Amino acid sequence: MTSWTVARLTRLFEHYRQRFWSGRLPTYAITVAPLENAFGRCDHDECCVIIDISRHTSDRGVRSTLLHEMAHVAAGPQSLGHDSAFFAQLERLLRRRAPIGMGSAENENRPFLHVIPKHFVLCRRALRATYARRTRAIEGLIEQQRREGRPVSEIDAADAAVSDAENVGMEGVPWRGALLAIGREYGLLDIDNKPLPWATEIVRRARQAHARAYGFWREEEQAKAVLEEALAASKMKPGGGADS
Ligand SMILES: [Zn+2]
Repeated sequence: MTSWTVARLTRLFEHYRQRFWSGRLPTYAITVAPLENAFGRCDHDECCVIIDISRHTSDRGVRSTLLHEMAHVAAGPQSLGHDSAFFAQLERLLRRRAPIGMGSAENENRPFLHVIPKHFVLCRRALRATYARRTRAIEGLIEQQRREGRPVSEIDAADAAVSDAENVGMEGVPWRGALLAIGREYGLLDIDNKPLPWATEIVRRARQAHARAYGFWREEEQAKAVLEEALAASKMKPGGGADS
């Protein structure tokens, strides 16, 4: 592997900027720094791209990470991360045969290919192998359980999603947070976090279950607050025993 300096990465950024965006892309500064759980990061506030070279094992990997972060630059600060604005950039890069590899980073927390809209043809094709590997791994696990004579539970994803929504509501997580959590877990939302057509009924049931649970959590919190207030008031009264 070549030694990657900031100067070298900056030159490559400019080269890609011209080649794949015809120069119409903001110039972000490049930083090389260790990152937690990531090969690279795009910081729109600071207008910089950070790359952790030490995590990479090949030059190809470094180029691919740089292009991934540049796709974030192009998607802009309004992008929610790996949403359709970002995927549109990946699609464009793949169409222009850019040396970008697709893998786990593009579909983190989204174990389903169907959440990526159909018109991202090249992205879906590039990611198919990753999903196939994942499916095989799950199937292998089920097969192993079967061989070991353990019961393989048939999970009904719809019921599981509804009861998960109820559980997080009971913990005081507002609906938006609950929806994002179950949506990602069960593949109910597309990459822009909109419910998929077939999932709208599940989302409706989940929302109802969540509303009941969340209402219950709020009542409990209010009751607790009233109790604490009463306790504090009794301590403030003269002779209430606060400093006796
Ligand atoms: Zn990313």
